[in-house]
Amino acid sequence: MRTDYDIAIIGGGPAGSTAASYLSLAGMSVIVLEGEAFPREHVGESLVPATTPVLVEIGAMPKIDAAGFPRKYGAAWTSAEQRPVPHNGFTGLDHDFRAAEVMFVERDQPEVDRDYTFHVDRARFDQLLLDHSASLGATVRYQTRVLNVDFSDPDMVTLDCRSPEGPSTVTARMVVDASGRQTMLGRQLRIKVPDEVFNQYAVHTWFEGLDRGRLAPDPNKTDYIFVHFLPIKDTWVWQIPITDTITSIGVVTQKARFTDSGQDRDKFFWEFVDSRPELAEALRAATVVRPFKVEGDYSYAMTEICGDRFVLIGDAARFVDPIFSSGVSVALNSARIACKDIVAAHRAGDFGKKRFSVYEGKLRQAVKNWYEFISIYYRLNVLFTAFVQDPRYRIDVLKMLQGDVYDGQEPKALAAMKEIVAEVENDPDHLWYPYLGTLRAPTLDPIA
Ligand SMILES: Cc1cc2nc3c(=O)[nH]c(=O)nc-3n(C[C@H](O)[C@H](O)[C@H](O)COP(=O)(O)OP(=O)(O)OC[C@H]3O[C@@H](n4cnc5c(N)ncnc54)[C@H](O)[C@@H]3O)c2cc1C
Repeated sequence: MRTDYDIAIIGGGPAGSTAASYLSLAGMSVIVLEGEAFPREHVGESLVPATTPVLVEIGAMPKIDAAGFPRKYGAAWTSAEQRPVPHNGFTGLDHDFRAAEVMFVERDQPEVDRDYTFHVDRARFDQLLLDHSASLGATVRYQTRVLNVDFSDPDMVTLDCRSPEGPSTVTARMVVDASGRQTMLGRQLRIKVPDEVFNQYAVHTWFEGLDRGRLAPDPNKTDYIFVHFLPIKDTWVWQIPITDTITSIGVVTQKARFTDSGQDRDKFFWEFVDSRPELAEALRAATVVRPFKVEGDYSYAMTEICGDRFVLIGDAARFVDPIFSSGVSVALNSARIACKDIVAAHRAGDFGKKRFSVYEGKLRQAVKNWYEFISIYYRLNVLFTAFVQDPRYRIDVLKMLQGDVYDGQEPKALAAMKEIVAEVENDPDHLWYPYLGTLRAPTLDPIA
């Protein structure tokens, strides 16, 4: 059966470009169909170290190093809580219990040769990765939107596309959907399931000249990612360095709060930020350099992430709340794991669903870990702070924060956290009961 390409990839974000690099390196003919003109802006600017092995393996790391993105050595969380939180028997609480920070250097991570990762301007990062895949032999078509994938022929797929030149079709042995939160195949195949609990919403922009040290407990660590909690339940702000002087800031809250407030995005942003006066003051002294943007309707799963002649990777396969900066690492690692199965399928000349079962199992386990961790965080975020500062659990929590979740094991700290959350939720007299959030995701039984 002759097709135009071995593999067609929908979307040229980090998942699609990484898959294109792996498959090109394996000698396969690949086309990436990207709907937008590049470079294009994108949310999701702070990486975790689990991206490093993938960037090294596809040969892109020297280009990333040369690009001069700010280095990220760790992560920090600050709280709006004014009173000390009861420590409740946790040991090692020699820091302020209301704030926490970790450095990646504290834990050796398999395959990771450095103690930092990067914060990235996604317009540049995504272009760099897509150019890299092209340098390895992938064909990249911009402004080419895939409208439908026809699976009726058992030996190939036919993609209907639209570009400024008009409609066109592309044939391939299989399709990889890397269309991000647009979830092209998820919608076409009706396999997308919205998350019943997490219906979060973000308003974000870039600031020039922000004093990043303003809320930092340690002035030497202002280049970390900061998560600043607002005194509004389940609501937080990210602070991500983009250049020496530009900082990305976003407010994340439940979508219902935005809908209820009935405000436009600028007003909404400032009203929320004003609830934390020291943060508001620092932001008002800086200059907004991009229009405010919103991101909504995220957090969903798919009933299937692979099938005969298709695989879903990155956000097209699953999206969980971005509080731990997991998205790009899931995009890169899902591409890495899926491509092992795809290369084997190609050698066997069989692109049936069972060929992708290793990928399916690994990705579901990894994302389940993230989901549970995030759920616990929203249920009781003081517990997270306690675990990060308790020497019994710190390294295990750091393993999650490094994005090291692909070994098929449940992180030890997760089991302990689940027990404590259940204890607190069932005891209104518990010292931590007043700190419970309102998002009650089913941590023991998350959606697939
Ligand atoms: C508020 C918020 C904050 C976040 N913060 C972080 C963070 O700090 N760190 C982090 O790692 N992640 C973060 N993320 C997640 C991160 O943005 C994503 O996980 C990541 O971009 C996924 O990469 P991807 O390649 O799967 O999808 P994308 O990067 O979205 O790329 C998909 C591409 O597919 C193209 N496309 C879509 N449909 C079609 C079609 N039909 N035909 C052709 N092309 C198509 C799009 O144009 C796009 O270029 C955040 C997400 C949100 C919503």
